[in-house]
Amino acid sequence: MSPARLAAGSPAEPDTTPGFAAPWPARDGLRITGVRSIVTAPEGIPLVVVRVDTSEPGLFGLGCATFTQRWHAVAAYVDEHLARLLIGRYPGDIEDLIRLCRFSGYWRDGAVDNNALSGIDLALWDIAGKRAGMPVAELLGGRVRAAADTYLHASGRTFAETAAHAEELREAGWRNIRIQVSQPGRGGYGAAALESPLGTRAGAPNPHGWDVAHYLRQTPQLFRAVRDVLGDSVELLHDVHSRLTPKQAVMLARSVEEFAPYFLEDVLAPEHWDRLPEVRAASPVPIAVGELATSATAATRMVTQGGVDFIRCHISTIGGLTPARKLAAVAEAHGVQTAWHSPGDASPIAAAANATLDVTSPAFGIQEAHVFSDAAREVFPGTLTIEGGWITPSDAPGWGIGFDEAAAARFPPSLSLHDVWAASVRGPDGGLIAP
Ligand code: MG
Repeated sequence: MSPARLAAGSPAEPDTTPGFAAPWPARDGLRITGVRSIVTAPEGIPLVVVRVDTSEPGLFGLGCATFTQRWHAVAAYVDEHLARLLIGRYPGDIEDLIRLCRFSGYWRDGAVDNNALSGIDLALWDIAGKRAGMPVAELLGGRVRAAADTYLHASGRTFAETAAHAEELREAGWRNIRIQVSQPGRGGYGAAALESPLGTRAGAPNPHGWDVAHYLRQTPQLFRAVRDVLGDSVELLHDVHSRLTPKQAVMLARSVEEFAPYFLEDVLAPEHWDRLPEVRAASPVPIAVGELATSATAATRMVTQGGVDFIRCHISTIGGLTPARKLAAVAEAHGVQTAWHSPGDASPIAAAANATLDVTSPAFGIQEAHVFSDAAREVFPGTLTIEGGWITPSDAPGWGIGFDEAAAARFPPSLSLHDVWAASVRGPDGGLIAP
């Protein structure tokens, strides 16, 4: 926090207004003494960490509040709005504290506030585990499986390059691989931008724009090319990245049925999620949606209204472990599986929380993987390692993830490059497309 922002008010001071404390006695004298955000970018991706300190020397918790595209806003939300609500309180009443943070803003369930709440929530669970001397998984009732199977992303400029990359991942132990390929134009998701001499729409105002007709023709060819190389030795996934209309999503799903995808990811944008049930009903290909959900409420509706086979939220963007474990329970009751979003903009703390959900929930389906760099491992000692495609949470108390602030300071954040990328995703007519 900058000195200027500190001087503007007293956000770090506890509010002692009568009636502000919870109307029940705390179990013991432990109190929250500090709440602050730290932003670091060891992989060039801004990660927002929240540290909650307590009155017990050495006892603190770490949470992930990463909204990498708008990290300044989340950091201010934590430091200037939430800290004063929490300092002086007993850290064990997690649900009450999160409800207080949530309701006190009156308006709620946006990406900024839920990421901020996640930073607090995950830090409080970390403290609870450390106090108990247990990993958070045991606080949730313990494991129902030994480890979580993961998928990783293979991409290339051509079908052959994608197939070769997928083959490398299979040799490294992955059994589940998401395949993406470049398209002429800047907007192909998950693969390098390609600019062919003419684009796919020569003469159009933006000939290198993302061409949905080309994409719909190309994607089944991508599946065929990769199956030709890898056969049935791996499960194949594909991320649409929210770019299709409901009818286009049905066309895509029907066109890849013969390749038996594990799932199609984010076929529709959040604005059209009410149409998911008809897409899901039109094809046997499993539908996985949810990384853009900004609340557990929105995600729960997808589950209960029959819109998804896999619910795949970003844990910090729906508010942390407290809402995520409830969502997993709803999914379990509806025969829907989980596939928590976990790329490089989920910090190692969030990745640990995802792995905890994976091994403790009967609803688990599959886990997105990210292989963290040495720099990230230095900043976050204890970062989980994926072995042969499998991930397991730490047995250390809490999340088992540390945070080296001196190392973090060597990787200062800058504004996310997502803004630039999003500005370049346009159709042949020049119109912006949800990236
Ligand atoms: Mg995705």
